[in-house]
Amino acid sequence: NVLAAASAAAPAPSAQNPILACFNENPLGLSAKAREAVAESAARCNRYPFAAVEQLRAACAAFIGGKPEQITLSQGSAEAIRASIEAYKTENVQLVIPELTYGDGEMCAVRNGIPVTKVKMGPDWSIDIEGMKAAVANHKGPSIVYFVNPNNPTSTIVDSKVLNDWIRSKPANTMFLVDEAYAEFVEDKAFVSTATLVQEGLENVIVLKTFSKLFAMAGLRLGFAYAAKPVAEKVRNHIAYDIFQNVPAIAAGLAELNDEAFLAESRRVNAASKKIIVEALAGLGMRTLPSQTNFVFAELPKGVTLEAFAGALKEKFVMVGRPFPPATNWVRISMVSEADSAYMAEQMKALRAAKKI
Ligand code: PLP
Repeated sequence: NVLAAASAAAPAPSAQNPILACFNENPLGLSAKAREAVAESAARCNRYPFAAVEQLRAACAAFIGGKPEQITLSQGSAEAIRASIEAYKTENVQLVIPELTYGDGEMCAVRNGIPVTKVKMGPDWSIDIEGMKAAVANHKGPSIVYFVNPNNPTSTIVDSKVLNDWIRSKPANTMFLVDEAYAEFVEDKAFVSTATLVQEGLENVIVLKTFSKLFAMAGLRLGFAYAAKPVAEKVRNHIAYDIFQNVPAIAAGLAELNDEAFLAESRRVNAASKKIIVEALAGLGMRTLPSQTNFVFAELPKGVTLEAFAGALKEKFVMVGRPFPPATNWVRISMVSEADSAYMAEQMKALRAAKKI
């Protein structure tokens, strides 16, 4: 069985070495080619990466279907999110977000003294685009809309046509930041990346990308913003030096972008883990939202708090996601290796038999 086959290779989960199903990371680690590239890059770490960074910019442009000058490189997408918000910070600007989404947009706005308008979620934690439109229309002043698609922590996508048509309608004084950190995992054929709008020439949208998820580089810190040239330049002004990303990160990024086999394996393991975990949760009577990401969002069993559920799994050396209010009776679980998924499934079954979850 999967568990037995993999247990020879991976150390058994322990308090010192728990299964991290909590941070939406990639369990595979860097691809073999990226590891080699990083090791090889050590010899060049005393030099500024003038040429290599332009190679990376061109590779990012090719990956997303744009031109190099439309790419602003950043240290993780976190820096690109911050720079985009700061670039469009003007008098009376507001940030509009769904109530349940990734926290970076709100955090940057708060640090910059920008008021945040949170729009209540629709059924099953869906994003209420009509509500977001109203929040923009009702504001006297400019708006920045931070839209995570697929969304975190809900794992779901919105109707691409509804979102993209809203952006195409160019609401006055509105800049859209569309964070597609998880877009590489989407399997739903109806998904259309908002990157296509940049290709159409729109100047009211920035697409944010990260190397932390499919590319397994969370610890190396690389990301980028993709936008029309004047927008990209504006964002770049808020990054210390987009021409000076760190040398090992550039080396790994270039290796990963060209490593089709690794990216396919990354997707395969993610889907396999999801199948095991979703089935295990269903066995506990827990439903999950249709996940298009490397994590699932599941409703806790009646009468079981997140504290109790996460606590019971922690005793079995499995860490699941933190609380995401207002979804207080839901849990976010990140995908892990197939062996760890099988271990988690067994533990959940045993904990249920012991009436702990
Ligand atoms: N955007 C979303 C939606 C995320 O979930 C995360 C991290 O989990 C990030 C951005 C930040 O990623 P990084 O700064 O590692 O690129």
